Amino acid sequence: MDEMIPWFDDGLRFKCTGCGKCCTGSPGYVYLSPDDLERLAEHFSLSTEEFSTKYTHTVEGYQALLDHPDSPDCIFLKDNRCQAYQARPIQCQTFPWWIQNLRKPEDWQEAAEHCEGINHPDAPIVSSVEIQAKCATYLDNLIAQNFSF
Ligand code: SF4
Repeated sequence: MDEMIPWFDDGLRFKCTGCGKCCTGSPGYVYLSPDDLERLAEHFSLSTEEFSTKYTHTVEGYQALLDHPDSPDCIFLKDNRCQAYQARPIQCQTFPWWIQNLRKPEDWQEAAEHCEGINHPDAPIVSSVEIQAKCATYLDNLIAQNFSF
């Protein structure tokens, strides 16, 4: 965060409802760090090379998960359930605490238009400390993939 005290210092409301919307439809890629690859390969009892060949492709020089062969949904989504949940990529684990959703309140509101768990009235308030820790994990994972900012 740029500011010493972030605009979300009182925390933000979020709880995943399991609607599956973030794993389906619209364009977007799930990019994988070396740690993601190792964890996912182990989950499916494959070598990282086998996993990469079977489940990933290269997007503008970065390794990303394939979509489902018959739809734009994530390849691991089955009956609205993630088949790799325990080993899911850091990008998924840290949603919605991505820097692009947190720079200013308007970014958070825009993210809420695509995710019903954001600002959900039944959701608990996630503390600013926890939000910043998740965002740092998200950023570290991008750095591990040599993304530039
Ligand atoms: S869109 Fe939001 S509420 Fe729905 S599954 Fe994804 S994170 Fe959960």
